[in-house]
Amino acid sequence: MVSRAQMVQWRSLADGVKVSLGEHALRLSDRGLCCSLRQGPQFYRRTLNGHWFQVDTGRRRLADDEVERLLARVREHCQRLLESLPDDALREPLERAIHADYRADAERYQQIYPEDVPILPPDRYRDLVVQPATGCPNRRCHFCAFYRDRPFALLSEEAFQQQLLAIKGWLGEGVRQRNGVFLGSANALALSQRRLLGVLEHTRQLFGQLPRGVASFWDPDFSPSRSANQWRELQQAGLKRLVVGVETGDGGLRRELGKGDDTERLTEALTVASQAGIPLGICILVGAGGEQLSDRHLENTLRWITALPLGRQDLVYLSPLQNLDTGQASPRPLSDWLAAEQASFKRQLTHYSNAQVTDYRMEDYGYYS
Ligand code: SF4
Repeated sequence: MVSRAQMVQWRSLADGVKVSLGEHALRLSDRGLCCSLRQGPQFYRRTLNGHWFQVDTGRRRLADDEVERLLARVREHCQRLLESLPDDALREPLERAIHADYRADAERYQQIYPEDVPILPPDRYRDLVVQPATGCPNRRCHFCAFYRDRPFALLSEEAFQQQLLAIKGWLGEGVRQRNGVFLGSANALALSQRRLLGVLEHTRQLFGQLPRGVASFWDPDFSPSRSANQWRELQQAGLKRLVVGVETGDGGLRRELGKGDDTERLTEALTVASQAGIPLGICILVGAGGEQLSDRHLENTLRWITALPLGRQDLVYLSPLQNLDTGQASPRPLSDWLAAEQASFKRQLTHYSNAQVTDYRMEDYGYYS
């Protein structure tokens, strides 16, 4: 029973409803699926592949039995809300939530996406992901937790267009909650210029120009070299952010990590794209040199970054090495030297570069519902 002292509060969202009672707050999609649950200090979020994460203390993926219990709680809570109905407008969403089929929804996700979406840049977690390609053309980075076993492959134009239609049909009004598009998977910029322009055009035709435009991971070592005119063409077609896993500005360390060691070529490629008007997101792997080579990594990376023509539109993401796990467990606290290296990067980049510096926070990089 709901006591009189407890008030149900709710508001409509573009794609569903947010409703709270006492220490519980739920966000329900227009299809009745619970996207997030706050219960006192605990906060749980669902990714579109059907996994649940507790994100109030880092990011911990719930085990299957925990998910069952959580969904039972959601249904119970919706039933209680239904009994205390403050407003008839809530009846339908709550009834849908009581009968929501999470398993069928996760299966639909698997049918639509040729591969799972394991990671997004932290500022792009509200993007709609489309996959004109799968996997990674490099796959040699020993620290990579996501793509080493996923060979690069292109989708046919027809398969990609079918995927877009299927995403639109599946998410329905949920598309309105997305404010940008992310091209999967690890390096969609490996596509030829013609294919990439086609991808941008088909995406725009179906979803319109979303406010934050289109973003993609980009590995210049495994992509065609593009002229300023070609970058401008892509920018005008909607490409608004390139996220590059540079990791370190030290060529030798890059080679040891499994990346190309020609940092000058990297600088040239990024400079051409940047000067053509596409903002960059540069990922730096804090701890890439280990404790012993921390100073060298720091020094050479700062030197490399400050040689780029970066402005406030550009981002530098600081991602501590030990946090790049699969999200199965809470991130461990950073060791002292790693925390010191991260603080040093942040302090010096903020001082010497015009780019915005941000942490790659575990809780923000999922493809959340
Ligand atoms: S290039 Fe990126 S996605 Fe590919 S293996 Fe290296 S870190 Fe992983």
